[in-house]
This record gives sequence, C-alpha cells and structure tokens, in this order.
Amino acid sequence: METETGKGHFIEAIIREDIKNHKNNGRVATRFPPEPNGYLHIGHAKSICLNFGMAGKFGGKCNLRFDDSNPAKEKQVYIDSIQSTVHWLGFEFGTPYYASDYFDRLYEFAVELIQKGKAYVCSLAPEEIREYRGTLTEPGKNSPFRDRSVEENLDLFARMKAGEFEEGRHTLRAKIDMASPNINLRDPIIYRVKKASHPRTGTRWCIYPMYDFTHSLSDALEGITHSLCSLEFEDHRPLYDWILDVLDTPCHPQQIEFARLNINYTVLSKRKLQKLVEEGHVDGWDDPRLPTLEGIRRRGYTPEAIRNFCDLIGVSKKDSRVDMGLLESCLRDDLNERAPRAMAVLRPLKLTIENYPEGLTETLEAANHPQKEEMGKRPLTFSREIFIEQDDFMEDPPKKFFRLGPGREVRLRYAYLVTCKEVVKDETGRVTELICTYDPATKGGNTPDGRKVKGTLHWVNAQDCLEADVRLYDRLFKDENPEQDKQDFIENLNPASLEELKGCKLEKSLGQALPEKVYQFERLGYFCLDSKAGAVGRPVFNRTVTLKDTWAKLSG
Ligand code: ATP
Ligand code: MG
Repeated sequence: METETGKGHFIEAIIREDIKNHKNNGRVATRFPPEPNGYLHIGHAKSICLNFGMAGKFGGKCNLRFDDSNPAKEKQVYIDSIQSTVHWLGFEFGTPYYASDYFDRLYEFAVELIQKGKAYVCSLAPEEIREYRGTLTEPGKNSPFRDRSVEENLDLFARMKAGEFEEGRHTLRAKIDMASPNINLRDPIIYRVKKASHPRTGTRWCIYPMYDFTHSLSDALEGITHSLCSLEFEDHRPLYDWILDVLDTPCHPQQIEFARLNINYTVLSKRKLQKLVEEGHVDGWDDPRLPTLEGIRRRGYTPEAIRNFCDLIGVSKKDSRVDMGLLESCLRDDLNERAPRAMAVLRPLKLTIENYPEGLTETLEAANHPQKEEMGKRPLTFSREIFIEQDDFMEDPPKKFFRLGPGREVRLRYAYLVTCKEVVKDETGRVTELICTYDPATKGGNTPDGRKVKGTLHWVNAQDCLEADVRLYDRLFKDENPEQDKQDFIENLNPASLEELKGCKLEKSLGQALPEKVYQFERLGYFCLDSKAGAVGRPVFNRTVTLKDTWAKLSG
C-alpha cells in the first residue's frame, strides 16, 4: 500500500514527472466529475481527496464538475447535496462547472466530427445496433448507414436536434472500427434523442451527448491536465483519446485510472444504495448506517477522519477491499483528540444515597478532556438520587467484576465513593433500585486513607438530567462481502444494525449539544445529537462509534 509519506502514490509520481518535463507548462488541473443522479458515498471521498489533494499539492486547481448529460436520472437535490458535501469535506471549488453548459460546444464538436467524415447518423433500431456490435470474441458488422454522405448526416443530425424524430429512431455514431477488439471503439453512439426535460437546460435540447463524448471534451474545454478516474474506465481510454485526437480541442488531458474503494460490511454503489433506500431497509439516504457521506456525517463522522482515512488507504491500480475497522480507527483517533467528555446512562438503574442530605444539590467540576486542560471544565450537579448503568451492578458478581455489588464500594466519577447497602426489587425479582451510603470525605473521588477502590462508574444526577433516546448503530451487513456469491445482497443485512434505547439519562449540559458535534460518553463510546430528531419531541443521540473495535474481537 502506498501512502502519503515519501514520494507518494503512482499518480503523484506521474504528475511530478510531468512537472519536471514542463508538460502542460508545469500546470496541474484536475476535476471531480460526479453525475448528479444520487448522493455521494465514501468511495467518492477517495476520488475527491485524490483530485483536490493533487491539485492542492502542486499549486493547481480542481474543478467540481457535474456530469449532467443524462436528464432522466438527474436532480437538483443531488446537485445541492454534492456541493455541500464536497465543502464539508474541506475542499474549495469556487463556482461549479456543468457539462450541460457545454451542450452548444459539444453540438459543434459533433458537427465537426461529421464534417471530418468521422461520425454518421445511424438509423438502426436499438436491438439492431446491439446485434451489429458483435461480441467479445466476434467482430461487429458495419451499419448499412455508415457511408451516408456528410451532407445527409448534417441534415439528419440538425433534424434530430430540431425534434423531428422520436427516441431510438436515429443516433449519431463515431465512425471508428467495427472489428476493434475493444468494443468501446465499435462505432460508439455519441448522441441520442431523448425527449426529457433537463434540470438546467429545461426543454431546450431533445438530443443529449453520451458519457465518453461529454467527458473527454469537458475535460479538454476546462484545460484539465490529469483526468483521474476509476479502473472501469480503462477500456474507455482509447475512445477518450480518439475523440481528442480527431477533434480540434484546446488540450489533450491524460486519463489515469486507479482502483475504486471497496469497504467490507457495506456496499458502495449508488444503484445498491438506492435499493436499500427505496425498499425501506434504511431510513433515507442519510441513514447513519449508510456509507453515504450525508449518512456518516449525520452519524458524527468528521471530515478530518475521512481525509485521514483516504491518505492511509493510498491509491493504486489493484482492486482491494479495505477493512471497515480502519475507517473506524481513523475516526476514533480524531474523536479521541477533539470530543469533549460527558456522562450519560443508557440503561438507567436508580441509586439512592441514604446518608446524603435530602434537598441538597452540590455542584462539582468535571474536565471536558482528561489530557487537554485547554478544553476547560463544566459544572456537574450531584444529589441524593442518581442513575448508574444497569450492567454496572451485579447481585452476585464474579471475582473480576470491579463494579458495584451488595456490600461493595465504588467511585462515582468526579464525585464520591459509595457503598451498596440494599437491593430493591420488584415482584418479578428485577432490581429496581440500590440503596447506598456515601463517604463525605471522598469528594472528587479521593480516598484520604489510601484505601483501594478499583471500580469507577459514570452516573447522572436523577434530579437534574436530560432524557433522551439513543440509537446504537452497528454494521449494516453481517457478511464481510455482502455481494459475495452473486446472491441478493439484501439477504446479508444485519438485522441488529440499529438498536433504539428510550429513556436514557444524560447529563444536563448535553441539552446544549448541536448536531455533528461529537461527545465521548465516558465508558460508552462517541455520540452526537441527531440532526433530524426534532420530530420525536425529545433529543435523540446517535452512537458514532464504539470506544473499541468490537468486531476485531469477534473475528480474532
Ligand atoms: P456508483 O458506481 O456508486 O454509481 P459512479 O462511478 O457512477 O458511482 P459518479 O458520479 O460517476 O459515480 O462518480 C464520480 C467520480 O467518483 C468518478 O470519477 C468515479 O470514478 C469516482 N468514484 C465513484 N465511486 C468510487 C469508489 N468507490 N472509489 C473511488 N472512486 C469512485
Ligand atoms: Mg457513473
């Protein structure tokens, strides 16, 4: 795996070499070209970090360009979301570019191709085009319309543009080589009739350019020097180069392919993500379990963690699957540094301190970060009734259990030492309350006589707390490779990917929490306020990530 350190990955090496040789006058220009037909996912982040990263590193520029030449699937909401997501990741792109802004120029380029005898209007039906194309092992056959005169082609193409023909009646095809071993070069379609309204050009056009034609020429029109794309476009490179060689364009960018990002326990394809959303397996495109950038942002992922992850995985030409644990560990590293600490009890058990004065409330101080004094302190109130975590108490604890049990003493974080005197149960035998005593000499958790108390518990003041729901997220799929064996990936969904806890008790200061601001709930993990919780009427917190990798243990 190549990393940021040293000379960098192979694409960086190519760019360095080009600069050294004064290629493009030493200029570097890249682009990130999403099709606005869905929301961005963590795979796109790899491409964004690479394109903006290379431009940034070499003093160049990176365009955000919407590859919006297929009106049927594209929407303004996607355009808006993509822009805000790229910004959120920390990249500046100025005004975005749109392939649709080039529709006039692209039309002129198509006319130029016809004039050069390099394109023709084909009147084969779509099935016939497929039939004539041949297969991987057999060459294709020339279309009977291949030798139309330039005049006839110009006339038909103009009439296609004018809306005289129905969809599928005619296409404009590049005249290359029907016997080429590369199927992309067997007279690919470059324009088709599509009577659809476009989000930006409305009904002005009823013919739309195909991907390869649009993409190569958009790159050239923007003066892109290095056109970085994923490996599936390798077989399209000869067509990319053919278009730019035949036409008179301002420059000829170099297409370089790299391996897509795959992560285990999830899927990274807009089509599959769409299925999850549309069939209701998740709650919308920004469900915090999804690998969409809107989803993980809502979950509490930070742009720093994602950028760091993209640096660590590097860039290569070999397809591979990255462990979800790596992404999570980048996130933990970042949050451990920056997340303020707070106390929350997810499954509350009441604890009453019988020798603590009734009606008294003390204000204690707690550090917001154990290693970072500059992050300050916050007040915490303490009273006779508090909540602790149900599983911090055992009636008949084994030897190694250092938490609370009958007759045992534990430290309440930032507060006092308490000893369990009595266990209260309901008629079913369930423990409903603990009666304890506290030692007033242990304020702040110190033991003046030096006695050893191993367990320290987090707690929340029952008389002064915030009630909230907490959503615990786990991996969306139970299989490492959900797409394995070509079976329906939906069958691999993890049925326990979401656990909703109600009636959780949080320290009062969390009432000030804002979405995307992540806290470490001590001993529990990292959590943030859900941005859509308004509807529930009480706050909802998302678990961003656990404190430790709980999956490593399972598979290890
Ligand atoms: P999907 O297959 O998820 O629909 P896409 O490739 O169709 O994705 P585009 O909007 O065309 O999505 O992608 C914009 C850019 O992001 C392309 O250059 C593409 O190569 C890159 N990209 C998409 N998915 C990944 C990924 N998993 N890893 C790296 N780059 C990716
Ligand atoms: Mg695509």
